[in-house]
Amino acid sequence: MDLSKLLRKPPAEDYQQVDTFWFPEEREDYEYSDENEDDTPLLIGQHVILDAGQVSLNYYCTECEDLRTFNSDKEQGLRGIVVNKQVISIDCILQCNCGSVVHTWFLVEAEDDIRYQSPKVRILHFREKLTDCVRLQSEKYGEFSEWLEKARRAYRDELGSGAVIYLRKVYESITYSIANANNILLNKVNGKRRSFYEILQEVDKEHSIIPESFSANGYKLFSQLSEIIHGDGSEEDALEYFGALYTLVTSILDNVNKKEELKIAVQKFNWSTNNPSIN
Ligand SMILES: [Zn+2]
Repeated sequence: MDLSKLLRKPPAEDYQQVDTFWFPEEREDYEYSDENEDDTPLLIGQHVILDAGQVSLNYYCTECEDLRTFNSDKEQGLRGIVVNKQVISIDCILQCNCGSVVHTWFLVEAEDDIRYQSPKVRILHFREKLTDCVRLQSEKYGEFSEWLEKARRAYRDELGSGAVIYLRKVYESITYSIANANNILLNKVNGKRRSFYEILQEVDKEHSIIPESFSANGYKLFSQLSEIIHGDGSEEDALEYFGALYTLVTSILDNVNKKEELKIAVQKFNWSTNNPSIN
């Protein structure tokens, strides 16, 4: 597998074997091995040409008004900067056929040494800078897509609380939207706001939005996750439970999408935009 194929995947914990991509410029016939390691010391900051194929990622191009594959320049190839003998930094400009661009940056880490033949590597870090003409491809969840993507990014950067806050925004926004569109009271008789949990229970009782897998066992798992999403949990908890929380929130969105009347209600009334102060 070319290194560029790995660069199309999201960052992951596991190392994956890729084809040799580092060939010293000055000695094309040179083959790296443990024995002659000292022959070519790697200089921090050294630029290296990488034999790694072409990086391609999908984005929504507003110029083309469609999902498009953005590619790095084939002729120019890829270049890296040596961070240390295990890590290289790769800057990549990806372009749509129409000329729209995305600037991407990868930190790639090898399990041993990047100069080894067919090294095992993983993406340590990934960043992208979108331009006005480019949007993320995950538009499946409509206006919530952006928050979900931000949650995933925060998680990737190990910002646990940040990741959970974005999920919570989606979770509350969708619940309040359905409540509001179905005349479920948001306030008590005395004018004070009802608790989020109370409103959610009523919404779920009437419209079954919480997925069955979460409502089984007397809502035990659901209650635990609810506590994490609404409490002042630790960073560790937030990171540990992010996967489950993300599944919970997207499963609720899937349930809502399946029910036409709820979908319309949510589209008609975007609670978050109208009530940014809710917490
Ligand atoms: Zn385009």
